[in-house]
Amino acid sequence: MLEVNDLRVAYGAIEVVHGITLNVQAGECVALVGANGAGKSSTLKAICGLIPAKSGRISLEGRDITNASGHAIVKAGITMCPEGRQVFPQMSVLQNLAMGAYARRDAEQASDIDEMMDMFPILRDRAGQAAGTLSGGEQEMLAIARALMARPRLCIFDEPSLGLAPKIVAEVGATIDRIKKMGKTILLVEQNAAMALRLADRAYLFEAGEIVLTGTGAELQKHPEVAKAYLGH
Ligand code: ATP
Repeated sequence: MLEVNDLRVAYGAIEVVHGITLNVQAGECVALVGANGAGKSSTLKAICGLIPAKSGRISLEGRDITNASGHAIVKAGITMCPEGRQVFPQMSVLQNLAMGAYARRDAEQASDIDEMMDMFPILRDRAGQAAGTLSGGEQEMLAIARALMARPRLCIFDEPSLGLAPKIVAEVGATIDRIKKMGKTILLVEQNAAMALRLADRAYLFEAGEIVLTGTGAELQKHPEVAKAYLGH
């Protein structure tokens, strides 16, 4: 579904992603793991058109989307659930969900909102409430639901567990697992390597802007270096 070939990303003169190559097959959950600053978020942002690729090629279902605009990439079928949730704080929960479907021109938005509220009952209870007044966990659920409202073929999650209490992190993990079982294709960046590798069919380990290891989630969980550096045992 997604192919990234020899991608380089730079901020000004400073290159932070040094020619990485990865792919995500339809129906897979793929995780990018690695330390702070290793280049995972920059990779995601380049895929989503939020920052330019310096060189390399990104394609979705065979179609070149390298350096396409963010809104064109959403229309092409990729949505991002961003780090820090970034809900629209002054808009209601309902309006945030409607914004997720902004690029769609079909008549099924109302029924999709209903479906999201069945999936996340707390959003139904809070439908008229300003999104900025929700708890962190509720905002994460809203950000995930808003991303799904675009009916993406590839759903990207950037650090969904960041700053959340352990009980809520477990809920976020279970939610991503449900989305995977719905048949969605998922690309996940997560500091919580234990959770990411449990959820992922395959994973790539990033270090200093390069991919240094790849394998199934289970293989990476068992890899001695990963276990020592990222899983704490
Ligand atoms: P994190 O989990 O902290 O987000 P990451 O693996 O996602 O880490 P990136 O956020 O992609 O890493 O950062 C890669 C490098 O790029 C880091 O050295 C970071 O300081 C730098 N960087 C990130 N954003 C910018 C920016 N807007 N301007 C300049 N440098 C940046």
